Amino acid sequence: MGNRDNFGKCRSCGQQVIWIKTVAGKNMPCNPQLVTYRQGNGKEKIVTPNGEVLSGELVGAGTQDATGVGYISHFATCPNAASHRKK
Ligand SMILES: [Zn+2]
Repeated sequence: MGNRDNFGKCRSCGQQVIWIKTVAGKNMPCNPQLVTYRQGNGKEKIVTPNGEVLSGELVGAGTQDATGVGYISHFATCPNAASHRKK
């Protein structure tokens, strides 16, 4: 039943993550906080609770033309992922 109880910990920084199964069948670690987003040509990668991966921008909760809520890939914010990428 859905994505309940799919919490885990990031192996590199130890923060709590939620595993979302994407429509492509991959499990993606995301930050457990829901964000409000507007779909479009923003630079953020949003993962919806249904597992769709979209591009868009983050907007404040309650924004009238917001598309919905979703999650941000943990890799986008993981402090250790950033240091790995900085080669
Ligand atoms: Zn991490």
